[in-house]
Parts: sequence; structure tokens; C-alpha cells
Amino acid sequence: MRFNGPNMKLKIAVLPGDGIGPEVLAEAIGVLKALNLDLDLHDGLVGGIAIDTYGVALRDEDLKLAQAADAVLFGAVGTPRHSDPRAAVRPEQAILGLRKGLELFANLRPVKAYDSLIDASTLKPEVIKGTDMIILRELTGGAYFGQPQGQSGQKPNREAVDTTFYTEGEIRRLMVMAFELARGRRKKVTQADKANVMATGRLWRQIGNEVAAEYADVKYEDVLADALSMHLIRTPRNYDVIATENLFGDILSDEAAMLTGSMGMMPSASLGDPKNAHGFRRGLYEPIHGTAPDIAGEGIANPIAMILSAAMMLRWSFGLDQAAERIEKSIEKVLTDGYRSMDLKSPNAKMVGTKEMGAAIIERL
Ligand code: NAD
Repeated sequence: MRFNGPNMKLKIAVLPGDGIGPEVLAEAIGVLKALNLDLDLHDGLVGGIAIDTYGVALRDEDLKLAQAADAVLFGAVGTPRHSDPRAAVRPEQAILGLRKGLELFANLRPVKAYDSLIDASTLKPEVIKGTDMIILRELTGGAYFGQPQGQSGQKPNREAVDTTFYTEGEIRRLMVMAFELARGRRKKVTQADKANVMATGRLWRQIGNEVAAEYADVKYEDVLADALSMHLIRTPRNYDVIATENLFGDILSDEAAMLTGSMGMMPSASLGDPKNAHGFRRGLYEPIHGTAPDIAGEGIANPIAMILSAAMMLRWSFGLDQAAERIEKSIEKVLTDGYRSMDLKSPNAKMVGTKEMGAAIIERL
């Protein structure tokens, strides 16, 4: 059965990157192919492998390939050989260049506690059972990009400065996305800031409340980011959509990731406004984990985060909700059937490698 019509080719840029990136991305492509979708795949090199091959982490050609696609599937970038943070050419420049070049401003991270993995978390099962939230992190502003930024002076008088800067437009578009997302879920938005000490926090709070007034059907609360970091591990079930600025989003989403037990289970989507040929948002879809150099090449990486990212792509960039659900249900089934990759070790589990996990998911589609 086809999910898309004859003129609905899914034009996808495939950027595997380094380490386990190509290993897990191959399984995601296998799952998409098994759904009999009309795929139009375009491969590109990014990250450390692009530096070795072309001298840069992201060539203009590869950025153009991503811009010409309806969506981008991205593995991960970075290798121990390219890890010097002072080097002029670094693998992470690929991801930053893609975010900028594709105008991606929102990073979505679903955090879901699967019943069958409840023991994989370091938290008590009764605390995390039923957790199902999305963290929506702003990607373009805040301390990562504000100017001035830098270090000056000599020992013992060195000093450094970072600047947190946000415009109303940047905050409003993220908050609107948060409310739209919540409408399709449990209808609650939590905005995290430091309004008690930061001017940008007060602006986030004002705009959060203004946007909330336009969504009377969605419950809204603003919370201090430090307090939220505590509530997240105490009462994670209370949250549905958490919207926040770049730096707090970076920290809170990593904290939330651990509710579910493994980095190998966490997908993400980075979305912008531009519409693709299908009338949906163009996006870049990637697992939250990195290149895992410690296990790269061994065939034991968990491909689920990457496969779930491909499911997010079907939903967000192509409107193929039914196909996305089929993938998600197969993954739940594989887990309840006892299949585990090495990051999810548990007694009596069927331990499998990357390819076997991919095959088991395809079998259950
Ligand atoms: P990492 O996520 O690569 O690995 C952390 C730990 O989790 C490792 O022990 C690894 O083996 C394990 N792990 C990660 N993904 C797994 C999976 N799918 N299955 C099983 N185990 C998995 O983080 P790191 O070690 O801090 O970084 C390694 C490299 O990745 C660095 O070069 C870093 O810059 C890069 N990185 C890239 C991205 C990205 O491309 N978006 C994100 C994070 C880190």
C-alpha cells in the first residue's frame, strides 16, 4: 500500500556524517524503503568526513542539496581526530551551517517513557511511567549568538563576556509553534525562563502570556528554568509542551532525555517556516546522540533514535501521520518483544546489533 500519491516523491537529503551516523541512518532508510514510499534520496558528505575529503565541514553544494530537498535526514558529526575546539575547521560547523542555511529556528525533542524500558532509567518507575512531553528549544538566538562575545585581558585579569539577545519576532514564532503543538496533544504549554534576573526572561514571559491569550483552549504557565529542572525529575508527567530559549533548552532537553534511559532512544526535529513542495515545514531530522566513537564500526549502536527521527520527518515534513505511527508502533512492539541494543541492556533480553534491530522493526511494520 502506498501512503503518498503518484506525484508525491519524497525528496530527502541524506547526510550520514561520522562514526555511528552512517550505521544508524542506513537502518532508517531501510525502514522508509520497507514502507514502499516514493523516495527520492540525495546523498551528501558532512562533518569530519567532509573535512577529510573536501577541507570543509559543509560544502556549498551539500547545503544547496539540503535546501533543494523537502527534508534532511542527518546522522551525527564529530570524530576524536577533529575535536580541537580551536581548529578553524570543525565538524559541528556542518550542523550550524545547515540550521542557518535552512532557516531552522525550533528544535523539537519528544521525551517518552516506554513502559518496556521503564527500568532503563535511573529514576523510579512510578515517577517516570506515562511521561510524554515535547521540549521545544529556540535555536537562532540567545547567548550562543549574541554580541559581544569573547575573552580578553591577560592573567590574572582575564575576562569574558557572552550576550543574551532576543527579538520579539524570534520569541513569538517559537511560542506560536508551542501552542499549535499543544493543541494536538494534552493542551498545556510551560515556558521556562529566568525572568527574576534577566531582561530577556521578562520579554519571554510577556510574549508567552500575549500568545497564550490567543489560545484560550490551551493551559499556559511560566516557570523559572532552575525550578523546572527540579520539577522535571520530580513530576515529569505534569508536562506536555515545554518551550524555552536556546541555552535553557539545551540543558533541560538533555536532562529530560535521561528520563527515558538512553540517548539511543531520543529523536529530534529542527523546523523552520519555509514550506516544502508538499506544503509542510522543511526540517532536519536527527537523533540527539553524537557519533559515539567508542562503539563506531562495531555494528552495535541503537538505531531507534534515528528511525524515530525518520518517523518525525514523515509527520512534520510530509504530513504522513499514518506511516509515522506505523514506525512508532513497530518500535514499541520490538521493545515489548524483548529486543534490546547494548545501551538498553537488561536481564533476559534478546540482545541485538544495529542491523538486527532495524530488521526486527521492519518485520513488525
Ligand atoms: P555521544 O552521544 O556520541 O556518546 C555518548 C555515549 O552514549 C557513548 O558512550 C556512546 O557509545 C553512547 N551512545 C550514543 N548514541 C548511542 C546509540 N545510538 N547506541 C548506543 N550507544 C550510544 O556523545 P559524545 O561521546 O559526547 O560525543 C562524541 C562525538 O559526537 C563528539 O565528536 C561530539 O562532538 C559529537 N556529537 C555530535 C552531535 C551531532 O552531530 N548532533 C551531537 C552530540 C555529540
